[in-house]
Amino acid sequence: ALECRSVYKTFKEGALSVDVLANMSLTVQRGEQVAIVGRSGAGKSTLLHVLGGLEDVESGEVFVGGVQMSALGAAARGKLRNKRLGFVYQFHHLLGEFTALENVAMPLLIRGTAGAQATQAATQMLARVGLAERQRHKPGELSGGERQRVAIARALITQPDCLLADEPTGNLDRQTAESILALFQEINRENATSVVLVTHDMEVAARMDRRLNLADGQLHAIP
Ligand code: ATP
Ligand code: MG
Repeated sequence: ALECRSVYKTFKEGALSVDVLANMSLTVQRGEQVAIVGRSGAGKSTLLHVLGGLEDVESGEVFVGGVQMSALGAAARGKLRNKRLGFVYQFHHLLGEFTALENVAMPLLIRGTAGAQATQAATQMLARVGLAERQRHKPGELSGGERQRVAIARALITQPDCLLADEPTGNLDRQTAESILALFQEINRENATSVVLVTHDMEVAARMDRRLNLADGQLHAIP
């Protein structure tokens, strides 16, 4: 479902350049759940951005559902992302002037779903992340963990083939984190949604089908 081949990603700071991803390859099958771990600064967020087509690469290819995303222009790439992928950013990226409901409905409105239908789906998805009572709140009126769950609802609203989630349970207490992981299992069973999840929590990583450690620009299987 999702694949990258021999990807190099370099950040240049003046004369200095750092290879964050160096000849990195990864294949995630439909329905597979993969945990990415690694020390802070290893490049985990960068890897998710590359998989999601949010960041260009120096060389290598990224394929989403057989389409070479890395060869597309910005508009076509955005469309492919909206159609196939759900993204939970490490730092939320909710739209501050819109309510939780509007934030969650947004990806459906972007793809042309009718307003009433998008609102109904967003209401249901907010209930699934435990925020039925918070729909009308704006991000600034929500706690960190609530914002994180709005971001998760927004990523899942389009029933993506693959969910890319950067520390989705990082701000959550154990019980709320458990309910979010259970939700990921449910959507995995319902739609064969693949999950690529970045986490520092080995207990969370243990729940995925396989675990990969990102170090020195490459992924290493953790037995
Ligand atoms: P954390 O666990 O702290 O979230 P991470 O593994 O997600 O870390 P990244 O955010 O992917 O790490 O960053 C990898 C490296 O790339 C870091 O050294 C970081 O400083 C650098 N980096 C990330 N984004 C940029 C950028 N836009 N410009 C320059 N350097 C960047
Ligand atoms: Mg990160």
